[in-house]
Amino acid sequence: MPKKTIRNISLSGRKVLVRCDFNVPLDVEGNITDDTRIDGAVPTIKHLLDNGAKVILCSHLGRPGGHRNPDFSLKVVALRLGELIGKDVLFVEDCVGEKVNGAIDDLSDGEVLLLENVRFYKEETENDEVFSRQLAELTDIYVNDAFGTAHRAHASTAGVANHVDECVMGFLLERELKYLQEELKDPARPFIVILGGKKVSDKIGVIKALLDKADTILIGGAMQYSFRKAQGHSIGESYAVDEDIPIARSLLEEADKRSVNLMLPADSLEADDFSNEANVRNIEPYDDGGSIRDGWEGLDIGQNAIQEFCEIIKGAGTIVWNGPMGVFEIDAFSKGTRSVAEAVAASGAVSIIGGGDSVTAVKQFGFADQVTFISTGGGASLELLEGKVLPGVASLDDV
Ligand code: AMP
Repeated sequence: MPKKTIRNISLSGRKVLVRCDFNVPLDVEGNITDDTRIDGAVPTIKHLLDNGAKVILCSHLGRPGGHRNPDFSLKVVALRLGELIGKDVLFVEDCVGEKVNGAIDDLSDGEVLLLENVRFYKEETENDEVFSRQLAELTDIYVNDAFGTAHRAHASTAGVANHVDECVMGFLLERELKYLQEELKDPARPFIVILGGKKVSDKIGVIKALLDKADTILIGGAMQYSFRKAQGHSIGESYAVDEDIPIARSLLEEADKRSVNLMLPADSLEADDFSNEANVRNIEPYDDGGSIRDGWEGLDIGQNAIQEFCEIIKGAGTIVWNGPMGVFEIDAFSKGTRSVAEAVAASGAVSIIGGGDSVTAVKQFGFADQVTFISTGGGASLELLEGKVLPGVASLDDV
């Protein structure tokens, strides 16, 4: 069921509590090292301010474990957000209670106040009823714009919505649903899914859900070795988890039954060390008897695989990509991921990048502005692709 957005409601003079995802990375001195998440919330905040709302922002930051801890204070975010929107962002050192009520009473239309970290209360992650009510009492309207935590049923992401009359999506959440859900209902074909990263068990739900929809699923990253092992190939010291082997085997059988092209890299780059100084060798294609030697590990897809994958990506109508093709953080093993990023950027397809590490890779290799959409949520984007209903979305008002 489609959900209402901030476009559908009257805002002037009303208190609006917005759940943002300000869970930004900090360095040891507590400085923000990447403000992408703060920047992502700006369109919603500006819309609310321009329409005369009293804007109250809340978020979590890190894992303070339900205790007040200055290392996880959102005060740094207030300062950075102020720079980004060109306006003072007021800050209050709590997220419920007297101090907060006073700060909100003093708030004028078109002003913005950031509350302290909601995870200073253990009640937040417990989705506690009383705490949810306390948050609800701060506001007339609740807006969820925190896609990164929308798969969690916490007080500020879900529980609060049970006690507020009007609950709607912000622009960031709306865009995530547009690309990770709507766009994939009837995708332009061929629909190519590229999956990498480490564990098959993390992505099994996505593979199963997309077996019904995708024309081709390309598997790279460490995940491929569980599939190769399931097929009986030697994989040397490559990363593979025992519990993933039977899962990989059943996925191969399933793909076969449904005539989906579940494609493994034809070859691999093997190395004798996890470093730039390692000796490396492109193995013979597995179909020609190639395998990873004992004492060596596969750390990137091979040259034949790169060519085959890029050729398929070139002809795609829609692409979803989650997970790197190899250990892209180390230069010697980054070619597969870089080549795939380049091919996705050049494809002209609707290209959707979901999940932490593929996002990092696309940005690192300089293709971020050449893809259609980059998701801000790792776990949340996987759950959406699996077809799950996210608690932070389910709790909002239907159109
Ligand atoms: P995930 O969080 O499951 O998406 O996994 C991402 C991580 O997988 C990245 O840090 C990559 O360095 C790592 N990775 C990708 N390919 C391999 C590989 N062949 N062997 C070991 N790690 C890998």
